[in-house]
Parts: sequence; C-alpha cells; structure tokens
Amino acid sequence: MDSTADRAPSHLFYQTRQRRPLLERAEGVYMWDASGKRYLDGSSGAMVVNIGHGNPNVLAAMRAQMDKATFGYRLHFETEAAEELARRTALRMPEGLDRIFFVSGGSEAVESCIKLARQYALATGQEQRWKVISRFPSYHGSTLGALALTGTATMTQPFAPMMQEMPKIPAPTCYLDRDNFSDEERGRRYAELLREEILRQGPESVLAFIVEPVGGASTGALVPPDSYLPRIREICDEFGILLIYDEVMTGAGRTGRFLGVDHWPAARPDIMALSKGFAAGYAPLGAMAADGRIVEAVLDAGGFVHGYTYAGNPLACAAGLAVLDELERLDLPANAARRGESLRTALEGLMDRFPFIGDVRGLGLLQAFELVSDRDTMEPLPKELNAHARLVDIAFDKGLIIYSRRTRGGHKGDHFMVCPPLIVEEAQIDELIGLLGDSLEAFAREAGL
Ligand code: PLP
Repeated sequence: MDSTADRAPSHLFYQTRQRRPLLERAEGVYMWDASGKRYLDGSSGAMVVNIGHGNPNVLAAMRAQMDKATFGYRLHFETEAAEELARRTALRMPEGLDRIFFVSGGSEAVESCIKLARQYALATGQEQRWKVISRFPSYHGSTLGALALTGTATMTQPFAPMMQEMPKIPAPTCYLDRDNFSDEERGRRYAELLREEILRQGPESVLAFIVEPVGGASTGALVPPDSYLPRIREICDEFGILLIYDEVMTGAGRTGRFLGVDHWPAARPDIMALSKGFAAGYAPLGAMAADGRIVEAVLDAGGFVHGYTYAGNPLACAAGLAVLDELERLDLPANAARRGESLRTALEGLMDRFPFIGDVRGLGLLQAFELVSDRDTMEPLPKELNAHARLVDIAFDKGLIIYSRRTRGGHKGDHFMVCPPLIVEEAQIDELIGLLGDSLEAFAREAGL
C-alpha cells in the first residue's frame, strides 16, 4: 500500500503529522516505495548512504557477523569487528588521531568529543577550561550537549533554559560578502573572529573550538577559503585550545577525499567526530577519533567517564568495516571528486535557466544550491514561498530526493543539498539534473518567479 491517505493512523511519530510513503526496497542510487514508484536518491538519505543502497558485500559481511554474535557488552568482551574497524579507521585519520571510540550516531560522536576534551582539561590541571566555541550557522546534533554547540536558533531556542548555550562565531559565508577582499583575505578575517571570541570569553576558560571542515546542511555545503582552517589551527595552538572537527557529514569520502581535513592537511584537528557515511546507513554507527596524547592523559587520570550500551556493537562494526572495504575497493572518494565536478558543472548550468538560483557551492559530492530573489544582493526568497519545503516536495513527486534547510540565525537562505551516493554514474547525474530542472520549473510556475 502506498497512498499515505489510505493508511491507518500511526502510533509512530517524528517531527510533524506528515505521512510518507512506505519504503519497499533500495538498490544502488534508487529507492522504491510500496506502490512501485522509483526515486533517485539525490541526497543519500541525509548524506548517509555513501556507498549506495543494498551493497551485497556489506550485507554478506553483516550476515556473517550475525551468525557469530550481534551483541557483546564492552565491559565483558572485545570483538574482532570493533578491533579491526578501529585499526583500519586509525589508518585513515590525520597523523596522531589513532585512538577510536565507537558510538551509534553523529550526536553521540559530538557528545563524546566534548566530554573527552573536558576530561583532558581536568587531567592536565586546566579545570577552568569548559567553553566550546562553535559557529553559526552550524549543526552538531540533537542531544542537549551537541545542541548547545549548534548555531541554528530554531533548533536551540525551545530548549534554551535546559542548555548551557555556548559562544559562537559566524561561519565564513564569503559568497554573501560584498567587500573588495580576496577570498583568501576573507578566510583569514573570518578566522580572526575566533581569536576575538577567545579573548572576549577569556582564553583560560575556553576548552575547544568545533567546526565542520566543509559546512553541512545548515550552511548548504559551505567551503571555507584555503586560508581559513590553517589559521584556525594556529589560533587554537596560540591559546592551547583543542580543535574538534565534526566530520559526521564530510567523512567517508563525501567531499572527494576520505576526510574533509584531507583538503587542508596542515590544519589537523585534535579530536574528530564521524558518522553517517562511516557505516553508510547499514547500521547505526559513529566514532570519535582522538589524539593518543589526549586519550592517554584521560586514561592515566582514572579513565574516560563516558560510554553507551551500544558502543562498539559488533554488527554495526562489521557493517562499518565492510563499508570501509567498499569505499577503498571502489575508490569512492576519487569517484566523488570526479562526479562532483560533473554535478557542479550541471548545477551551474541550471543557473542559466533559473535566475533565482543565487549560488552553487560544495566539494566533491557534497554540493548545494541556494535560492534567492536577487542574485546581486543575495536577498533570500520571501519566507511565505516556503521554498525549502515546496521544492523538495515537488521533486519527491517527480521521483527525486533532495534535502533542504532554511537556515535561521545569521543567514536566511533556502538551500538544497544535492549529494547522491558516491557510486553515482554519469548517466544518473544527467537523470538527476533532468528531474531537478523539471522540479525547479514547476516551482517557478507555482511561485510566480
Ligand atoms: N554533525 C553534523 C555535521 C551533522 O550533519 C549531523 C546530522 O545531520 C550530526 C552531527 C548529528 O548526527 P545524528 O543525526 O546521527 O545524531
């Protein structure tokens, strides 16, 4: 049964009352609902399914693990799957980040980073350090700790009294700037905002700075100028502040390299959060990678006071390991770089047809476009058009899945993530762009643009 109207009321609930079609099956870049309608997954779910749906090698590895054991509590047993995934993950990390802690998702990974950083401060006689500076717009997760770092007011405001709101600086939204600086100069200037914030807060109270190396859905794939992250690293070093990268969305090949930081290797973090493409939707899995010096100091001081029941779950780790095998066997980061170029060129081509596309940006297969009412001023579309929701719904009706946000707090653009699985082929990019062009045309007619 497909029609959402025909279905019985559900006991299940998510954000709204809106019902969605029943998912029947998924393979490669395609998904089918129960009526047989096919969708091109142009956003890999929520930028998750990096290796594509239904990969037989991953499914076989999971079945093999299921035949052995699906759970072993970490305080009772170690498992080969977790051991091996930690070893292989460490090999892909920036030098020194060779200690891996498993969790079940991105929010848990971010929570773990904050708690490890804080316990490192305690272990090294820096009790006064507790503030974690982040950016706006940004998204770091929905648990209260990760939310306190999130720079998207609509998500944080309802919980304000329950959170210790953390200080935030603007993300380098250079495409909105109308000054005469070069992008490199702008990158340095945006980085200096961190220095100013550290001084305003009192450097002795600042524990860490957390940043998505390439912005995710909250910024619409914001790529910083090359000068930005290296300068951020210098500033953190100047004040002895830990640098945390949230690579939940950018990790596992999405940007055309294995990690976002691999584009700026000199700007190495101290701690990193991973999830999404790390197990590519085959199991709930995330990880924190941390510098050995930090982990050793915390363990020496009595242990890491943190943990989850499902941490290091063998089935999730077996899935993660098989996903990593596929990422490497198929050289998917390289494919993301190659196909990302084609996708980017095609999206820029749509700008000729649709003057209300104000910007196309991204790296690899983390691409996004933003809708505006005026390309020169980058004035957003009127809120009443509800563009972020309408275009996604129109595209969905036509069989294309894309992902959108209308970010509030600092910047108000309707932007859309176009991030197919990294296995996407050239012909599928053409199909995606065809469906997207039709959807934009239908949206323009409806909105009178
Ligand atoms: N960090 C980033 C950059 C994300 O994009 C997300 C999810 O979208 C998270 C953290 C939270 O991950 P999860 O939804 O798996 O808890």
